[in-house]
Amino acid sequence: MSKGDIFIISGPSGSGKSTVLKRVFERLENYFFSVSATTREPRPGEAEGREYYFISREKFLDMIEGGEFLEYTEYAGNYYGTPLAPIEAHVSCGIDVFLDVEIEGHKNIRKRIPEAISVFITPPSIEVLEQRLRKRSTETEEKIKRRLRRAKKEMAMAGTYDFVVVNDELETAVNELYTIVQNIRTKTENNGKEDYLS
Ligand code: 5GP
Repeated sequence: MSKGDIFIISGPSGSGKSTVLKRVFERLENYFFSVSATTREPRPGEAEGREYYFISREKFLDMIEGGEFLEYTEYAGNYYGTPLAPIEAHVSCGIDVFLDVEIEGHKNIRKRIPEAISVFITPPSIEVLEQRLRKRSTETEEKIKRRLRRAKKEMAMAGTYDFVVVNDELETAVNELYTIVQNIRTKTENNGKEDYLS
């Protein structure tokens, strides 16, 4: 059986990446969204096991020790990691997997899985990003500043991704990402994929 594709989706916090992804998932069938583990506090509206597995630092370190992550990183003072087992399970059944990770995660996954397809979702400008982060206003000024600095660094890496989607108008961004996924699916269905994670 042909293995599923792996889509790595990145974009600075506040780029609208989660909204774009959610909307694309409404139109897709046969996919698995990889739920990461994190040591950060849940934001209002986030649910355990849906956006993240919210775990303690101690548990996170145990999981690193146990080799349970495909990759992990420290971001804005918290740990984030991608559990490996669910990805292997879905890809081997021919189900496409979507990963929402930052730039280090992208780099590390690419090293392990060069066939993975990567898409960077970017806000139209750093000014628009700042407005969006302030509107969300779930974080302190210092944390917003830290995320903006990080965003600039991330946006400079957009060129290392296979595709870049500018999230200016939401509907356009959703259509673009959906089209990218459908095109890749058609291509890999024709070529087959056998060697991931083996
Ligand atoms: P947030 O706290 O805004 O949910 O996420 C912060 C950043 O961490 C986002 O850029 C998101 O893509 C990234 N992220 C979430 N889960 C993972 C993960 O498992 N690994 C890596 N490397 N980054 C992650």
